[in-house]
Amino acid sequence: MTNNDVIVASDAPVPTFLKSHRLVKVLPAFLALGFSACLALLSIWSLSPPEIVANVSPGEFSSARARDYLKAFAVKPHPIGSTAHAEVRDYIFAELAKMGLAPQVQETTAVRTRKGSAHRAATVQNIIAKLGGTANTRAVLLVAHYDAAPYSLGASDDGAAIASLLETLRALKANAPLKNDVIFLATDGEEIGLLGATAFVQQHPWAKDVGVVLNFEARGDHGPSIMFQTTDRNGWLIDELAESVSRPVANSLSADIYKRLPNDTDFTVFQQAGMNGLNFAYIEGVAAYHTSLDNLANLDERSLQHHGMYALALARRLGNSDLNRPISKSEAVYFDLFGRTLIHYSRTTALVLSILVALLTFGVIVLGLRRGRLTLSGQIWGFLALLLSMIGATLLVMLVYWILATFLGSRTSFRQGDTWTNHLYLAGFVFLTVAATAIVYNLFRKKVSIDNLATGALIWFLLLLIVSHVFFPGGTYLLVWPLLFALIAWILKFTLSPAKLSLTKLCLISAVCAAPGIILMSPMIYQIFVAVGISQTSLVVVPVTLLIGLLLINFELMATGFRWLVPAASALVAVCFIVVALLQPNFSQQQPRGNEIFYVLNADTGKAVWATSDARPDEWTSQFLSRDATAAPLNDYLPWLNNTAFLQQPAPAATLAAPEIKVLDDQVQEQTRRIHMRVNSAREAATLFIYSGTEISEASVNGQPLAKRPDAPAWDKGQMLIYSAPPREGVELLLTIKSSEPLIVKVVDRSFQFPELANVTVKARPNYIVPAPFSYTDSTFIGKSFSLPVTQATVSSLTSN
Ligand SMILES: [Zn+2]
Repeated sequence: MTNNDVIVASDAPVPTFLKSHRLVKVLPAFLALGFSACLALLSIWSLSPPEIVANVSPGEFSSARARDYLKAFAVKPHPIGSTAHAEVRDYIFAELAKMGLAPQVQETTAVRTRKGSAHRAATVQNIIAKLGGTANTRAVLLVAHYDAAPYSLGASDDGAAIASLLETLRALKANAPLKNDVIFLATDGEEIGLLGATAFVQQHPWAKDVGVVLNFEARGDHGPSIMFQTTDRNGWLIDELAESVSRPVANSLSADIYKRLPNDTDFTVFQQAGMNGLNFAYIEGVAAYHTSLDNLANLDERSLQHHGMYALALARRLGNSDLNRPISKSEAVYFDLFGRTLIHYSRTTALVLSILVALLTFGVIVLGLRRGRLTLSGQIWGFLALLLSMIGATLLVMLVYWILATFLGSRTSFRQGDTWTNHLYLAGFVFLTVAATAIVYNLFRKKVSIDNLATGALIWFLLLLIVSHVFFPGGTYLLVWPLLFALIAWILKFTLSPAKLSLTKLCLISAVCAAPGIILMSPMIYQIFVAVGISQTSLVVVPVTLLIGLLLINFELMATGFRWLVPAASALVAVCFIVVALLQPNFSQQQPRGNEIFYVLNADTGKAVWATSDARPDEWTSQFLSRDATAAPLNDYLPWLNNTAFLQQPAPAATLAAPEIKVLDDQVQEQTRRIHMRVNSAREAATLFIYSGTEISEASVNGQPLAKRPDAPAWDKGQMLIYSAPPREGVELLLTIKSSEPLIVKVVDRSFQFPELANVTVKARPNYIVPAPFSYTDSTFIGKSFSLPVTQATVSSLTSN
């Protein structure tokens, strides 16, 4: 079979002067591909969040009303321990009281310990209110956190969620009461280790009444709110979601992927406590995440509306259902269509469907073999062609990214490695993938027929479907439906007589039957890209190649006329996108970059430095660091940073009080020493880092035990406890150690501003630079070491070295 075998005379009358032209012959293939491309863009675009809502009846959710709340509290960075944090707490409390609820503040010590990382603790202040139901079965818990990251104004993370839950409560109150209680929980200390949620679950009496949790989050400043995580046995929850929400954006693959990522939100705590629930977040515009760009002006109000639509619809639905009924054990496979409707079925149904489609795949191949359209060797070649395309395209994209990374080094705005022109690079990489795949197929087409190449590609769908059932059962929908429709196309192609199958019909069948694959896979590819960022763009190459596999007939028909047109044109378009991306201006007020500088004083030596983890001083940090500043570890200042080198330069010593330790009790019994002490930031800093050079077998802070595992030491040598928002009088530690060793402790406190130093005036940053997220920037650290030698005195005097 040669290339042109499947090209049959076009059935539409063509003017004579055009008849011989090759373009006319393959025009249907061009049109079919154009249709597919439009469908892909439409399916991505359809995930836009819903329109904002201003004037609606009091019983409905209005993003405009929610925005008013946000306007009042997303005005300053409000990390836990800051003064602005207390203002936000008071505002939320007052708004709940205004609604006629009886809010309470759960103020308590919360502790979260995890193997291999610092112990996290804080004095948290959760704000809690209950909307009583008429015949409560179990409560619906609505959760968002009100603390923000240190430099963020917290408009999106997580102010939009707080505002939409306040608006939801207001709307619920304006309607007839629900059967179940609705508990509003504004958690504290999420950013520093999910501490508010931990305190609620472990210590609040209402926690045991909770029937279902709805948690709301953000990791950017726009995009649809995605229901991206569920608890196990989610069948009933997905039913409720599908029945109640008009604009669902959710799929079971992202939930499966998220399970394997180390990321956390408060939802993790509820899940670990055995509660059922759903987790929502919008994630586009990650550059705003944890930076001063996370402000009200940058927030897309439609995302706020989307949060609220879920919250109100689900609160009403779940608020009127029996949350005590036994929960079925089924897990659901689910996905949205154009963000308008949620298709869902059980994993058992998914398995049956997959088996049927697998049988159908074999049936189609046998049919093709019998009709003489396929050969066994051709199938193997077809299979290999897609494999080589996947490998080739991945390598090409990785290579181009590697080359670009040297240019991008100075263009990445923040540490996550993302640039302000991410989407242009994505488009470039997609076209590079098309080019690489087209080249591979050009080479294979000399040997193998189009039918063999195209059906051989489908075997990949079958193979990945089997793999998916084992590792990502939530992702099977992404393979089974595209495969099923592609098979229908082949049944038609093999059964219709070639005389009846004109080129136009052939292209039409291919395009229509590829549509389900395009509709399901395109938004997924886009979401993966948004989730992982530019540095891991190569992850989108395989799905893009698979998508091309579905459209192979059209690609190949087009290529018969213009052999090197597809690869050449795709490569050219790819280059254009990448060049345009590179030509964008570097940084601006709207698209700034981040930098870092912080001040550390060692009160033991009286020495201080300015330090940064930036590679070199920039035009702003050069007021602290000269060009010849050297990189060295900060072991004498922040010992937990383990030899990480920081660019640093000596600074004048600030006249600020160092942290204090007061031993309250110190006793040795047998070989064990128990020390009870109070640790305090004399200057009332926001955070205490308590680092120990001694292994501590048992420990508690303010009466809450620190324990990783029952059989392991509570506190390894070199580990630390980070305590946020300590009370003015300090925190109480009770430590048990071996009596043979002195206890060595270093306490460092951190405040969220620069120190006041004689003859030092800190200039403001230029408007195109902001404090770098996930850094220590704009902080003052003061550290002091304490060595407590073995003593049997009940209250000992303290030696500091
Ligand atoms: Zn958050």
